[in-house]
Amino acid sequence: MSAADLDAVADLRAVLGDAVSVDRTAIARVLKDASWLSPVLSEQIDRRAQEAGPVMGVEAVVRPRDEQELLQVTAIAARHRLPITPRGAGTSGFGLVTPERGGIVLDTRGLNGTCELEGDAVRASAGTLQGALERTARTAGRELPLLVTTYASATVGGWLAGGHVGLGSGAHGAIWDGSVVRLRAVSVEQQPVVHTLEGAAAEPLLHTFGAVGLISEVTLRTVPARRWVEAVGSFPTFADACAFVAALARDPRLHERAVTAQEEGLMPAFGELAQLAGAGPGVLMLLDADQLADVGALAAAHGGTIAEWQPWRLGRNERPSIAAMVYGHRMLWVMRAFRDAAFAHLYFDPADPLWDIALLKERFGERLLVEMKYIRSPWMLRALGLDAAEAKAGLPASVVVIRGAREHEDRVGELLRFCDAHGIHYQNSHTNVIEDNGLFADVAPIVRAKARLDPHGLLNPGRLRSAEVRP
Ligand SMILES: Cc1cc2nc3c(=O)[nH]c(=O)nc-3n(C[C@H](O)[C@H](O)[C@H](O)COP(=O)(O)OP(=O)(O)OC[C@H]3O[C@@H](n4cnc5c(N)ncnc54)[C@H](O)[C@@H]3O)c2cc1C
Repeated sequence: MSAADLDAVADLRAVLGDAVSVDRTAIARVLKDASWLSPVLSEQIDRRAQEAGPVMGVEAVVRPRDEQELLQVTAIAARHRLPITPRGAGTSGFGLVTPERGGIVLDTRGLNGTCELEGDAVRASAGTLQGALERTARTAGRELPLLVTTYASATVGGWLAGGHVGLGSGAHGAIWDGSVVRLRAVSVEQQPVVHTLEGAAAEPLLHTFGAVGLISEVTLRTVPARRWVEAVGSFPTFADACAFVAALARDPRLHERAVTAQEEGLMPAFGELAQLAGAGPGVLMLLDADQLADVGALAAAHGGTIAEWQPWRLGRNERPSIAAMVYGHRMLWVMRAFRDAAFAHLYFDPADPLWDIALLKERFGERLLVEMKYIRSPWMLRALGLDAAEAKAGLPASVVVIRGAREHEDRVGELLRFCDAHGIHYQNSHTNVIEDNGLFADVAPIVRAKARLDPHGLLNPGRLRSAEVRP
């Protein structure tokens, strides 16, 4: 550690005491996230670890216990020009908690006071588990519009900075579509300021990898709670399954918290559940328990059947939960069946999603396995330049499975180049640079927000290439 770094750590210790750890094992432990899901990112991170050593130049892990301590940390970091990597539970998959320029890792899990109901919203410190906000909302007969599938372990601040969708996205879109009522964010300056960002003003901090502002508190909208039941559908063809998913998404009377069609080749990955579904393509669902019969009739109209699996509970479920087989969690099940797989977030043409799927299947065949769901996100449609009028069911979205991606070096690149050539949209989850993500055509508002909240460019350096740094 250099003399300057020793000074910085001593200053941190003086105000936070044993909430500052310089133990190398403890540091190495917090530098890992779920980026092993991407062969591209895990190779980059392994290479950096070999070059920079297991702690990658990080001096300390700091765990403030409240917003006041957070202000003290940012003041010290700004004075010593010490880079900060905020970290919640480390469940994001973009190599986001592996710093490029050392500094400190800021463990936000100490910021976890109680959740408070505030009218139709729920408020909590940024390090609170997202499931805790849902639990609080449910005490008032309400629920979160979007519930990340890692709700039992991930922090709400980490989800807003690193994630983007969750259970409920079929009805309520993504994090940019009105779920966030307000954020409190602490600036990284010698005299830090707490900014209160209402609604759209919070947007530059969403899914921008903790590089724009340090979130200290989150207020999320809630909606009336429903009694959800988990169910699985079986259909003669994948086209039938997709048509059913589209019809369900288009019908405003039918409520769902997850509905996703799976190609036949994917179904065995879901173990016991696949046996209930039977042969053929399947649909994994969380449905309103009072509407099971209506959804069954809709499935029958598309040649399919549905079977109830179990009631969904926020806590422990008796059987493996379908809520942990959809969205991000689906990757874990798929990896068990296809250990060589990688994933890509693709978005199809709302006017004719099956056309894009046919193109992909023609080119990649069984090397690419497709799911199909809808995300009702006006923000994402705009960001991708798609016509909202065509998107009556929402944005057709898929996390496709690329088989053999760990043996064949460039299989992810090959898929993304094919998408570029054929006008298929995607979000690139194999990069952690905001400009390369695919959802941010105009980074100017993000750059402006970072200049205001992080004028010395200390937050997660390397994530925003266009960042302007005050000397
Ligand atoms: C199995 C699995 C399933 C998943 N399912 C989903 C899903 O359904 N939907 C989805 O969107 N994502 C999903 N993810 C990704 C991830 O779980 C979520 O984004 C998660 O909510 C991140 O929370 P975290 O506390 O783990 O954040 P971390 O991984 O610790 O951090 C994520 C990012 O946020 C930054 N950050 C953390 N806290 C703050 C703060 N207070 N202020 C500013 N920046 C901060 C970090 O620097 C980092 O860039 C999944 C991941 C896995 C492994």
